[in-house]
Amino acid sequence: MKYRIVYNKKECIGAAECEALSPDFWKIASNGKADLKSAVQNPKTGNFELEIDEAQFKKQQSVAGSCPSGCIKVEKVQ
Ligand code: SF4
Repeated sequence: MKYRIVYNKKECIGAAECEALSPDFWKIASNGKADLKSAVQNPKTGNFELEIDEAQFKKQQSVAGSCPSGCIKVEKVQ
């Protein structure tokens, strides 16, 4: 099973919970917003997307749940 993180950077308020919980995936950039490392921007939605495996699924779900602006989603890839 494959999963995907979908990150709406426009809504990020720089609270940094993502980086604190998962520094391998998330980093606060100099503009104060989080970067999802190695993510690719979807040209249609503007969201940043990154495929992850089962091993990262629960961890990234907890990251999404801790983001105060709700701008991180983790979804199943078809
Ligand atoms: S937890 Fe959410 S709002 Fe905070 S820096 Fe990360 S993505 Fe942005």
